[in-house]
Amino acid sequence: MHTIIEPFKIKSVEPIKFTTVQERETILKRAWYNPFLFSAEDVLIDLLTDSGTSAMSAKQWAGVMDGDESYAGSRSFFRFERVVRKLTGFKHIIPTHQGRAAEKILFSIVGGKGKSIPNNSHFDTTRANVEYSGAEAMDFPTPEGKKPEVIADFKGNMDLNALKAFIETTGPEKIPLCMLTITNNSGGGQPVSMANIRDTKKLLKKYNIPLFLDACRFAENAFFIKKREKGFAKKSILEIVQEMFSYADGCTMSAKKDALVNMGGFLAMNNDRLATLSRNILIVTEGFPTYGGLAGRDLEAIAQGLEEVLDEHYLTYRIRSVEYLGEKLTAAGVPIVRPPGGHAIYLDAKNFAKHIPPQRYPGQSIVCELYRVGGIRGVEIGSVMFGRKDPKTKEFIAPPMELVRLAIPRRVYTQSHIDYVVEVVKDVYAHRDRLKDYEIIEEAPVLRHFTAKFKPLS
Ligand SMILES: *Cc1c(COP(=O)(O)O)cnc(C)c1O
Repeated sequence: MHTIIEPFKIKSVEPIKFTTVQERETILKRAWYNPFLFSAEDVLIDLLTDSGTSAMSAKQWAGVMDGDESYAGSRSFFRFERVVRKLTGFKHIIPTHQGRAAEKILFSIVGGKGKSIPNNSHFDTTRANVEYSGAEAMDFPTPEGKKPEVIADFKGNMDLNALKAFIETTGPEKIPLCMLTITNNSGGGQPVSMANIRDTKKLLKKYNIPLFLDACRFAENAFFIKKREKGFAKKSILEIVQEMFSYADGCTMSAKKDALVNMGGFLAMNNDRLATLSRNILIVTEGFPTYGGLAGRDLEAIAQGLEEVLDEHYLTYRIRSVEYLGEKLTAAGVPIVRPPGGHAIYLDAKNFAKHIPPQRYPGQSIVCELYRVGGIRGVEIGSVMFGRKDPKTKEFIAPPMELVRLAIPRRVYTQSHIDYVVEVVKDVYAHRDRLKDYEIIEEAPVLRHFTAKFKPLS
């Protein structure tokens, strides 16, 4: 077979800035060893996130110019609504400025004290919005999803036995809806199988609990189903997407992922009453129902992006480019979460930097070294993000995994950029004994990873 190539040519380019190791050492120090505090200009290859970092196509930019900015009844809204309805089949489609705005509206209606929301794994903003409403966010990932070294096709699945037991003990009346995150972002971008979506719905139906998809990466998930699940090889991505949504009663969506735009989102559902309540809040917090928190041009770009993301050449390239990075790193002996997910490679920092204990932040140490050596920006997902202190004993409690995420923006970097990333990671791994312990010298009470200040220990 020939090389899988980028299914586009480049029409417009953005230069990236080269710095020396010495300059980067100064930048690291000035930013208190926290890459969230860098100026993005100082980053050579930015793998901080795949959210809102996609390159738009010429047709999307043309849509930006063509957007209808009418306050009510904009033509761009109707195009957006048509495309989302074709994919999801949902009756009510409500634009929001990003995914978390859809979550905020949904959970301020169905959440609240005494309620529980189950999910395969809540994304952090989803959890925050559930908890902010007073409800409890519960995760039921499949057991193999928690083991980085176990190779399985659908590590993003919901653990249906655990979900059933939870519904039985909690009582279905306390569960206003159940979420399923596709792909499972917090679980490493691992896909959820069609069988699992179908069986989740089947189980919920018995208790009359609606199913909502957290659908940010629906197209990447559909591609994995096509490649890995029996009976789907000959179906089109559109048919698979339509089947996935057919089991759900609604969804929240961040268009910053698989809609290939830099901003946007939506909330969709079949239930009329829920839709009316949602639109009432939308008007107060986001905007009139035919624009939500978005400009007409944004709706136009989302509609176009949602059509483009279904292209099988695009998805083949997308999933292959992530897998390519994973394959090269694995061949070099670098420990990563396997198999590679849809949007990122996760370095297994516990095995990468065995000499650094969790409370000395092995992931943060790798993140800093990747920047120092090669100007690459990744993000720690481990004890910095999720570590906490026991309220009584003040003892440090580490999360189950110490990871460094290298998220791949869509349509942004070429194969030689990724080859360069491989070289830098291999270099850092070869000299892993150089990786230093870190301590936090200043932190915020919540979501401390964004602003914390660090100090390397010699
Ligand atoms: C990004 C993301 C969200 C939140 O979307 P925003 O547009 O960033 O507000 C919710 N769920 C998942 C799984 C995500 O990846």
